Amino acid sequence: MISKIIVASNNKNKIREIKAKLADMDIEVLSQREAGFDIEVDETGTTFEENSMLKAKAIYELAKAPVIADDGGLEVDFLNGEPGVYSARFCGPDATDRDKYMKILELLKDVPDDKRTARFRCVISYIDEEGKEHAFEGICNGKIAHEPMGEDDFGYDPIFMVGDKSFAQISQDEKNKISHRGRAIDKWVAYLKDVK
Ligand code: IMP
Repeated sequence: MISKIIVASNNKNKIREIKAKLADMDIEVLSQREAGFDIEVDETGTTFEENSMLKAKAIYELAKAPVIADDGGLEVDFLNGEPGVYSARFCGPDATDRDKYMKILELLKDVPDDKRTARFRCVISYIDEEGKEHAFEGICNGKIAHEPMGEDDFGYDPIFMVGDKSFAQISQDEKNKISHRGRAIDKWVAYLKDVK
């Protein structure tokens, strides 16, 4: 059983979510900065799996301790899966979250409801204490709204509808239960409990 895990990220929300899901297991969760690794890894892969594994490997090579990394994004069917792995970089490096989701709304202008299907996908890469690589995928299906809904807080949340609410209109706790990342983390935690 592992006693410590490094998350290849410094995102406070991600770290908090992972800590909460590991609460009943005696595992210390450290961000990469807390573990002493202040590095930025180029996401040069063409899939979420490749990019998350690149991030996990970079930290594992330095720490030689169990690491998880995630990569995810929005896939819009009408746009043939775009922005996908380019979700963070869609519209160029200086674009705001609002620029990005407004661009999607523009590209889907006049597209009827039944063709507005989309999903958030997340892949968690885990390198265990023996250096073995594992991947866990989570998907959350939804639809693209016709206009932004709710507070502009993170990424594409205001235009991603699950039922009649956008991701920006539900609480963080509710979102963590159904989100792509929440589901991928759940699969990883189930695996950890299984091998314990
Ligand atoms: P990351 O790999 O989780 O950092 O996600 C990459 C990009 O995808 C983010 O910068 C967001 O633009 C988008 N994204 C991923 N997950 C979400 C989400 O839950 N809500 C809104 N946008 C997201």
